[in-house]
Amino acid sequence: MTPYTPPSLRAIAFNCLHCNAYAGQNWHSVYYHGTGLSDYQHCPTMSLVICDHCHEISLWLDDNIIYPDSSGIQLPNSDLRNDIKSDYLEARSIVNKSPRGAVAILRLCIQKLCEQVGEKGNNMSDDIASLVKKGLPIQIQQALDIVRVVGNNTVHPGQINSEDNTYVATQLFTLINLIAEAMITQPKHVEDFYRSLPDAAIEAIEKRDTK
Ligand SMILES: [Zn+2]
Repeated sequence: MTPYTPPSLRAIAFNCLHCNAYAGQNWHSVYYHGTGLSDYQHCPTMSLVICDHCHEISLWLDDNIIYPDSSGIQLPNSDLRNDIKSDYLEARSIVNKSPRGAVAILRLCIQKLCEQVGEKGNNMSDDIASLVKKGLPIQIQQALDIVRVVGNNTVHPGQINSEDNTYVATQLFTLINLIAEAMITQPKHVEDFYRSLPDAAIEAIEKRDTK
């Protein structure tokens, strides 16, 4: 599978939010018509981007994508496994039309994310407990427990309220990225930094730690 490259400001190629293909992206400045005939004003905060593959446009305001519809939800953490990123983006693309569908996909994402960070992925409660032992911040644990409980309570037909689902979905997107940041990205950065120390310094640290 080709690695997933999330859209980022001014990047010349990324996975398109319309066609999902990894494709060249052409960035254009946005101008608006002023008062005079030849009066064009530059709108520096906006960009229009055209995909080489599907020729669809996306509109950016600073580093936020305002079209296509993604309800201002952040992109997935780039260290997530590709299948999790795909699920996350699918949920992101449907959250306004079907928050309940998005929540279902996002719960699956959390299960897969637990697997990615070394848990079993079949019992959220056990996985959360184990992640806390490995250093998952307590605030994320509490948020996950809320999601777990809310998820369990909304399975009954007729009790699902679409507003609740929109709220839960928004929280889940944030949580997935928070967990990925805490359990994958930060440890990776610390490890890279540690490995960049001079050999003598690493030897001294390791010698101290074996005492
Ligand atoms: Zn495209």
